[in-house]
Amino acid sequence: ASALMWFRRDLRVQDNAALYHALKSAGRVHCAFVFDTAILQGLPRQDRRVEFIRDSVAELDAALRALGGGCIAVHGDAADELPRLAARLGVQAVFANHDHEPAALQRDALVRERLAAAGIALHTSKDQVIFERDEVLTQAGKAYSVFTPYSRAWLAKLDGFYLKPYPVERYAGHLAPATGAVPDLEALGFTRTNLRDIGIVPGARAAEALLQDFRGRMARYGELRDLPAAKGPSYLSVHLRFGTVSIRRLAALAHADASDGAATWLKELAWRDFYFQVLANFPRVGRGESFKPEYDRIAWEEGPEADAQFAAWCDGRTGYPLVDAAMLQLNRTGYMHNRLRMVTASFLCKDLGIDWRRGERYFARQLNDYELASNNGGWQWASSSGCDAQPYFRIFNPVSQGERFDPEGRFVARYLPQLAKLPRAVLHAPWTAKPADLAAAGLVLGRDYPLPIVDHAQAREATLRRYAVVKGAP
Ligand code: FAD
Repeated sequence: ASALMWFRRDLRVQDNAALYHALKSAGRVHCAFVFDTAILQGLPRQDRRVEFIRDSVAELDAALRALGGGCIAVHGDAADELPRLAARLGVQAVFANHDHEPAALQRDALVRERLAAAGIALHTSKDQVIFERDEVLTQAGKAYSVFTPYSRAWLAKLDGFYLKPYPVERYAGHLAPATGAVPDLEALGFTRTNLRDIGIVPGARAAEALLQDFRGRMARYGELRDLPAAKGPSYLSVHLRFGTVSIRRLAALAHADASDGAATWLKELAWRDFYFQVLANFPRVGRGESFKPEYDRIAWEEGPEADAQFAAWCDGRTGYPLVDAAMLQLNRTGYMHNRLRMVTASFLCKDLGIDWRRGERYFARQLNDYELASNNGGWQWASSSGCDAQPYFRIFNPVSQGERFDPEGRFVARYLPQLAKLPRAVLHAPWTAKPADLAAAGLVLGRDYPLPIVDHAQAREATLRRYAVVKGAP
């Protein structure tokens, strides 16, 4: 029998669930990736993610060729092209890994229908997460809506069985050779970005190198992960997004490491599964609704002034150094440190009073690691409308967050060098600097760096009033 392995967001050979099942069940397995115009047409012509995917597919093709196979690259609407390719190759089955995003579920349902009409089966596997959908439920058989009990149950269930890699290599002899080449970025209608200049290397080999680098730092993760100036986190998120690394491999390494840092990191991997299961079990969050419905009563700021403030937030011109440096990090690199995602998201909803959905959309366009489930989860957490036991009056103060997590101002200075010469005590609140200090730093506020666009204390009061509508809700 012959089969087709359809790669999507699982761009690796090693420990790939669907690839293993395809190779095990069929004597001849073709591999394909579709550059899906249904997705690509909505993107700007320079997009780091498209470049990351294209280069990762090229590496995947090379890795498959080294094993006697290869990757057929198609450019078109996946819902049309995939069934057409399967029919042309004459396969009996198509194998793919689950993609949990609402648009992907729709596409896959359509593909399944079209394949079925041609007598071809579509088999899908869990690959992206450790536990999906209903695999971790409460004692009463319900989906969890709070992380702490979820993570306890997740950890209790985690054992060697779920962490075992799929031994793809065992059946590599079943790979069918492919002709043709992976189109270059220009042929797909895109141009190169600054991806390489900022040190982000696509592909499974680069993911492995990052992982090896992080293994040496894992024990100190708990200590360093909140300091944006430090090399604390793993920077693996973009690889998890496109499957150039296996989640099982990461979880197994953390699980086997007895350090506190590894335990903390493993919990972060559980957050990822948590938000995936929230999206699966509470699909309203993927439709733009608040997880807690009463939060949809909030009246957000709208109109020209809010638009101008939103633009200032996007561009990193709010006058709050930590917020601005974070937004510049996002705009220039497509990455933002987790602590700063929390700070900037809180600032948008609770200092500017702007609907979290606008911020969510902005992050979705900019983040290399953009993941609907985690991004929505993070934004709803920040706006207090989500799965969180904390009350809405947790409002981050952007100045004290800076003093606490960037005490030397090293992160801020990296993106806002004009502030680097300010005394540490005022670096996170330049408007409080003495005229002599401003002069010594050669800084004119309003010219070299903006004055704050809102007063945090006043904004805090306004937010408490705005959020009062959720009180007394069932
Ligand atoms: P590490 O600290 O090394 O963590 C390892 C992995 O754990 C990450 O790669 C990620 O897969 C997972 N993880 C860590 N923290 C979280 C979390 N809070 N929620 C879910 N998974 C987590 N993460 C995304 O992958 N895509 C997004 O679109 C995204 N949007 C976010 C938006 C907001 C407002 C917030 C507050 C957080 C968001 N996160 C998102 C979560 C987190 O910020 C990133 O996963 C993390 O910064 C990625 O960097 P890293 O790989 O170096 O993380």
